[in-house]
Amino acid sequence: MTLHLVMVGPPGAGKGTQAKQLAKAYQLAHLSTGDMFRDQVARHTELGKLVDPIMKSGGLVPDDLTVAIVRDRLQQPDCTSGVVFDGFPRTVAQAQALDALLHEMGASIALVPCITVNDEAVVERISGRYTDRNTGQIYHLKFNPPPAGADLFQRPDDQEAAVRQRLQEYYRKTEPLIAYYQQRGVLQQFDGMQSIDDVFSAIDQAIRQL
Ligand code: AMP
Repeated sequence: MTLHLVMVGPPGAGKGTQAKQLAKAYQLAHLSTGDMFRDQVARHTELGKLVDPIMKSGGLVPDDLTVAIVRDRLQQPDCTSGVVFDGFPRTVAQAQALDALLHEMGASIALVPCITVNDEAVVERISGRYTDRNTGQIYHLKFNPPPAGADLFQRPDDQEAAVRQRLQEYYRKTEPLIAYYQQRGVLQQFDGMQSIDDVFSAIDQAIRQL
């Protein structure tokens, strides 16, 4: 059985954290367009140079570029048993493109976990978020403190002005996905103010009931 999940929710809701755990538990490919773009930026590719200023400002990368990298990624063999999409789609146009891509593969979206958190929590979570340069592990200075001596860095778009811009983009362009997936009967809401483990258990239970 193949399983396709789409994580929806504002920045800082915990989509990445849950997506990683779900990928591990169900042997799914973890497809994060944010990670893919950050990798392009780090490797100074043409695409990286193009998306770097957009990401830094908290804006969205154009749909055609985003859909193109997802299309390529879905050709990789690890995607055949299922995928958890994290940070994609972010617009209704991307959601329509994803439906078409999955249809070509004979697949469809089984569940869209929508993780809800309030705006104050988003800002608090994101402003304390740091990544370990060596392991890629993400920590939070208050909620999930890093070990002493960890070599940490902050995502440039996790600074306050960019966070505000990202939230605005979320409400304008990404929130309409909730209605889009609700109409298809695949959306389920999860309270992202619970602990990481409790959010995971709730999503896990929903998957088992599919
Ligand atoms: P994320 O790691 O998912 O928070 O994404 C970081 C940044 O990458 C976003 O703020 C956007 O600039 C860009 N990005 C990631 N995914 C997408 C997407 N599906 N569509 C457009 N831009 C994206």
